[in-house]
Amino acid sequence: RFCLKNICSIQPILRFSKTERRTQVTKILDGKVFAKNLREELTQTVSALQKEYGEVPGLAVVLVGNNPASEVYVRNKGIQTKECGMRSFEHKLPSTIQQEDLLKVIYQLNEDPEVDGILVQLPLPDQIDAQKVLDTIDPAKDVDGFHIINAGRLTTGGEALVPCTPLGCLLLLKDHFGDLTGKDVVVIGRSNIVGKPMAALLIRESCTVTIAHSKSQDLKAICKRADILIAAVGRPEIITGDFIKKGAVVLDVGINRIPAPEKGEGKTKLVGDVAFEEAKLQAEAITPVPGGIGPMTIAVLLRNTIEAACRRRNWVYNL
Ligand code: NDP
Repeated sequence: RFCLKNICSIQPILRFSKTERRTQVTKILDGKVFAKNLREELTQTVSALQKEYGEVPGLAVVLVGNNPASEVYVRNKGIQTKECGMRSFEHKLPSTIQQEDLLKVIYQLNEDPEVDGILVQLPLPDQIDAQKVLDTIDPAKDVDGFHIINAGRLTTGGEALVPCTPLGCLLLLKDHFGDLTGKDVVVIGRSNIVGKPMAALLIRESCTVTIAHSKSQDLKAICKRADILIAAVGRPEIITGDFIKKGAVVLDVGINRIPAPEKGEGKTKLVGDVAFEEAKLQAEAITPVPGGIGPMTIAVLLRNTIEAACRRRNWVYNL
């Protein structure tokens, strides 16, 4: 239902060998541009909802402690929520908070009629049972899609709020292919936040899905048959060019920080799970890291918040 244009930039790639010099064109799936276009569409949707119903959706983000990376994510979520025209509620709680007190905050947000989406920034401190906290969120406000009810609805074909990163991957794939029916997809990783919901979404799209993980035998052979390869592992550049079928589409979810001595002493850089330079010689289309799947996540969170608001408040919408 999304019709986003201009998400891809085309980059020519020159590949040389002793006997041939040929030009291959690989599409770089630009998540930054896609996310920007998605946010613009969502801004229009929020404005239309405000005109029609006189109210806008609200997103509450709960941050426990002062992990610098989490603070940056939460700040960005707040900024983008407001830029989109929605209400943003931030709850900053001390790292020493006890489980009971954190759950009280969640109960209040569950009851608050102005809050349509609740997101608890992970990781949580050791004294907190994160799963208990996530399962306390009202499933109708669970915009991260981590509640067991939403996970169950996703796999059984019900109306679920879907985890943001895999949904972002699906939007990119649908934009690229249109129909995904019959595609052979390999998802590497079986976590509850990426691998499993990704597979469930693709099954819904009538793909043939294989999930690989750390115990899979002969990962290369498994990957090599994929029309679409999705890496969500967290191991820097383990997927090399020889894992990829010629003409496959590759989505790299992994975010890994590694030393970058070429940038100076003590410097680091972000890389994905896929060795990008090699992989793009094989792939028809590929996401870079950074700038691929990463930027999609917050945009999809905003989308989920609007979806949650529309369902809860019985607003008619066309996302
Ligand atoms: P997890 O650590 O929860 O899961 C990793 C998965 O990879 C596991 O299923 C594991 O298998 C599998 N795995 C590990 N090593 C190998 C191996 N050598 N070969 C095959 N499979 C392997 O990670 P997440 O799913 O949470 O995240 C994965 C990556 O995606 C991380 O880099 C993370 O930072 C990134 N990420 C990015 C997001 C974004 O772009 N916004 C959002 C979420 C995550 P097993 O189950 O057997 O242990």
